Amino acid sequence: MPRAVVIGGGIGGLTAAIALRQAGWDVSVCERAPELREVGAGLTLWTNAVKVLRRFGVGPAVEAVSHPITRSEVRSWRGRVINAIDFGRLNDRLGAPTIGIHRADLQATLADALGRDRLRLGAEFVGYEQDAAGVTTRFADGRTERGDVLIGADGLKSAVRRQLLGDEPLRYAGYTAWRGVGVIDRPEVPLGVTLLAMGRGSQVGTLPIGKGRTYWFATANVPAGGDGPGDHKADLLRRFGDWWPVVPAVIAATPPEAIIRNDILDRPPVRRWTDGRVALLGDAAHPTTPNMGQGACQAVESAAVLARHLAGAADLPAALAAYAESRFARTAMITNRSWTYGKVFVLESGWACWLRDRLSGLLGGLAVRDTEKLIGAEV
Ligand SMILES: Cc1cc2nc3c(=O)[nH]c(=O)nc-3n(C[C@H](O)[C@H](O)[C@H](O)COP(=O)(O)OP(=O)(O)OC[C@H]3O[C@@H](n4cnc5c(N)ncnc54)[C@H](O)[C@@H]3O)c2cc1C
Repeated sequence: MPRAVVIGGGIGGLTAAIALRQAGWDVSVCERAPELREVGAGLTLWTNAVKVLRRFGVGPAVEAVSHPITRSEVRSWRGRVINAIDFGRLNDRLGAPTIGIHRADLQATLADALGRDRLRLGAEFVGYEQDAAGVTTRFADGRTERGDVLIGADGLKSAVRRQLLGDEPLRYAGYTAWRGVGVIDRPEVPLGVTLLAMGRGSQVGTLPIGKGRTYWFATANVPAGGDGPGDHKADLLRRFGDWWPVVPAVIAATPPEAIIRNDILDRPPVRRWTDGRVALLGDAAHPTTPNMGQGACQAVESAAVLARHLAGAADLPAALAAYAESRFARTAMITNRSWTYGKVFVLESGWACWLRDRLSGLLGGLAVRDTEKLIGAEV
């Protein structure tokens, strides 16, 4: 049985491992963290990702710990509805829902589906060497693992990518994001509704993620370097205190320790994701800003396409190269478009924001068709 060593036990790495197991591969997932912790916040998993997870038999378990989206609303910072999408109708047409989920719930569900015995925790990748017969992976504790292929699913700051492509700077989008999870009881945001409020230089979004919880994010145009602990809650209440009352209420309902801050980073798309028996996947290959909510969804899609190319392949480097080639156009389009959307969401000048909000309202129908095309695509 061929064997894959997957670096990174995030959404991409775990989904790739599940997909590879089903394609007849032996898999070991090597994760740097000593345990799978409650890190991160919420995620939108759009129909495109839910369909892939259903195909691998993981859909029901994932959907059971999530909340389906029935409607999405774009509003002005004062709360005026600019446009809305009826997800009930969209889901019916596409045959699978878009869901909100806590990242930790998704990761735990994927780890259970894979089998926890396949997951090596506390395994920090430091380098690889390959020869005609396989790849040897080295870890920080001096251990090694041998496989037929090595999959680098170790995220935005991927060490596998660094060995493959050398040092490349990350690209700061110009805005930082705060994220939080709380139990929010506001009639204006019934569970099932996802919200994006756009203001001058900032946006705030909410998403139901199951068990009665709401995930929210807020962005602001500030210099990079603000990651880490701090009195985020007081800062946010100052920044967003005069927005539509739902926004400060959502922030106020969140325990301070449940608020995290990360500068938004990506990398311009590159075609080279492979080096012989080594391939990148997920954020390691195609990191994107979160403005389309597609980063994890694309990692899930890439996992499915990778496994399809490796199933029964005789020439593994060629199969990996074909996987990368077939994924480049779609992921690059998303990275580029998401970058542009981000710039529009955080416009600062009053007239530009007025024009943005007018156009968003006028072009709402086009946006629905575009979303449907994106999330309805079969991979
Ligand atoms: C604010 C924000 C909001 C987002 N919202 C959405 C959304 O709504 N929908 C969506 O689809 N996506 C969203 N994303 C993007 C999504 O979070 C990522 O695209 C997704 O998590 C990528 O998964 P991954 O498995 O590739 O990487 P990661 O989730 O980063 O996992 C990488 C794993 O590799 C491990 N690792 C790192 N280095 C090593 C090493 N040297 N050795 C071993 N292990 C290592 C890490 O510990 C980690 O567990 C958002 C991102 C941000 C920042």
